[in-house]
Amino acid sequence: MRKKSKFHLLGIIGYPLRQSMSPILHNYWMNKNSLNGYYVPLELNNLKNINKAIKAMNFTGLNVTIPYKKSIIKYLDKIDEDAEKLEAVNTIVNKKGKLIGYNTDTIGFQKGLKNLKKWNKNLPVLVIGAGGAAEAIIYSLCKIKIKKIYLMNRTIGKAKKIGLKYKNIKIIRWLERDFVDDFSMIINTTSLGMIGYPKLPISLKETNKDTIVYDIVYNPLKTPFIKEAEKNNMDTIKGLEMFLEQAKESFGLWFNKHPKIDTQILKLIKNKIEKQ
Ligand code: NAP
Repeated sequence: MRKKSKFHLLGIIGYPLRQSMSPILHNYWMNKNSLNGYYVPLELNNLKNINKAIKAMNFTGLNVTIPYKKSIIKYLDKIDEDAEKLEAVNTIVNKKGKLIGYNTDTIGFQKGLKNLKKWNKNLPVLVIGAGGAAEAIIYSLCKIKIKKIYLMNRTIGKAKKIGLKYKNIKIIRWLERDFVDDFSMIINTTSLGMIGYPKLPISLKETNKDTIVYDIVYNPLKTPFIKEAEKNNMDTIKGLEMFLEQAKESFGLWFNKHPKIDTQILKLIKNKIEKQ
């Protein structure tokens, strides 16, 4: 008799989760890799006893998204070096009953840059937002030796907190300028532009056309910010790139397998987003 393969329960913790494409993607990859199990969306109002619940239900692993990337940390048994530095976890692995936290947004963001033809790294980069994803991006920008980073967030205290950890950051007040120029790249890491949220109240009208616009929001596929950049013939990177790359890394941590981003899954995700 053939031995039954292990049943894997995986999922994503966050609120809201309507925008998340992680379930469709990971279930597709599990199927393609002949892994038995499900990846489920877990829309949570709070994290009370979450560690006990994960262990009791014997989850293989989880992703963590807004607004829990930082608040999840105190429930974990251990976090890896990058996640510790960032104080943000987006992936949990259940290793024999011990919950280990990782951050794959850093690598996801960096891999999102792979198709760029030119990028003047000597000019400053503007990062908008100071949540869980923002710091992962700032950490990556420092790793790739960006000399100056401007950081703007609605809650200035959060930006200042990040500013204390990295040498090359200059904090600017939220919407201090209603236009931006002389940056090599502008990165939106806020939830603004995401389905159900207002658009980012920043105009690119006066922005240098050589500026690259990177919006990490991936639902919708083209945020109003990306649409404006495209209208201005600026180079853009859409959040879907980063999303797929960070997901590949998470899948690798859970299963030690490297899934493929094939045309079928791209079509499924794009269709689902377009229908929302
Ligand atoms: P988070 O920790 O909750 O941070 C949210 C950020 O958005 C904060 O900077 C927050 O500002 C800002 N924000 C929210 N509502 C706002 C409003 N009405 N006006 C001004 N600012 C507002 O979330 P996160 O984990 O960093 O994720 C942020 C976004 O990135 C989400 O859309 C998420 O889906 C996306 N994301 C994409 C990827 C990808 O792989 N493509 C990966 C990670 C995240 P305050 O500090 O003032 O609240």
